[in-house]
Amino acid sequence: MKIAVFVEKNPVTGKLRDVSGELCAKASSMAEPFRGEVIGMFAGDTLPEDYRTLFAAGLNRLISFRDNRLVHSHTIALKNIIEKIIRREDPDIVLFGATSLGREVAPLISSSLGAGLTADCTHLYIDDYKNKGKILYQMRPAFGGNILATIISPESRPVMSTVREGVMKVPENVSKHPVNTESFDMVLQDNWFANEFLNSLPKERKVNFNRSDIIVAGGAGVGSKENFKLLKDLADMLGAELGGSRAAVDSGYIDKSRQIGQTGAVVRPKLYLAFGISGSIQHRAGMDESSKIIAVNSDPRAPIFDISHFGIVEDLRTVIPVMMRYLKEDMNG
Ligand code: FAD
Repeated sequence: MKIAVFVEKNPVTGKLRDVSGELCAKASSMAEPFRGEVIGMFAGDTLPEDYRTLFAAGLNRLISFRDNRLVHSHTIALKNIIEKIIRREDPDIVLFGATSLGREVAPLISSSLGAGLTADCTHLYIDDYKNKGKILYQMRPAFGGNILATIISPESRPVMSTVREGVMKVPENVSKHPVNTESFDMVLQDNWFANEFLNSLPKERKVNFNRSDIIVAGGAGVGSKENFKLLKDLADMLGAELGGSRAAVDSGYIDKSRQIGQTGAVVRPKLYLAFGISGSIQHRAGMDESSKIIAVNSDPRAPIFDISHFGIVEDLRTVIPVMMRYLKEDMNG
């Protein structure tokens, strides 16, 4: 079993995108029982500063193509380089981060190879399939998140999937491997650099859910932009990131970049505080793996209480000032 991972660098920080390490670790946990190999595929101007960490996450070999013209993400050039590496290496499975770049490059390659591609997988595993031996099972929400579909591509090779950042839990006890890099060589054609529209550096995202231990999230029940300021004050006191449901975004209470759920961010903080959120399946898809969930909702039948570790049936406008008072007292000793 050979699994290839598309390795990406954040052009602003020069470091790996988190999803690259997450995918290497996941690939390693799937390949290892079959004594398989995990290869990384990178194309860019220079390797990510911290590329060595991928080997600690289970990567066996990193194949890289370097050229100064790749300082920006030229989709067509990247597609041609990565496709050539895939054709040479002939992996069973290819994994991409569901980043802007991954979402552009993966479909182009899958269509060129005639391979199946499943977007935004939330779970991946290897199992038997009829007389085809071991194949990849790809799970993802479908039909508006009302069902969890399992998708297989037994007739195509390689099987290709994209996975959003933060979705794959890094398995424990990942095997560490020695650093093993090799350069890939090919001639780039000038007309592969014609796509100027991608030549601007992506802005650093202001919201960074992945590095927050606590998330304070609000829903339609917060009721107004003014009330959302209460949540922001609480988040600031706790050093937390502020998030919300789609209904909160649609109501104009918070920016779309803060939406959590199936069509927003997938988060897994140590503590998730949900205020005025009913707990729809689409919202849960983005937060139900949080270590501890505390929900405040005036309706005792709200589904959010089904997945909460601690629930308060009360008006959030009463609860938040009390929480803040206790926190202040605590801080002042
Ligand atoms: P509501 O369902 O309206 O719930 C508001 C809650 O606030 C209620 O439970 C109410 O009891 C409580 N409340 C009211 N007043 C108070 C008060 N004063 N104090 C305390 N509690 C109060 N949703 C997402 O969140 N993220 C997604 O990514 C997402 N993607 C979607 C994708 C698709 C394809 C579809 C079809 C839907 C998606 N949705 C998503 C929308 C989702 O179905 C729900 O509509 C949404 O999550 C509801 O948001 P909410 O819980 O804030 O609002």
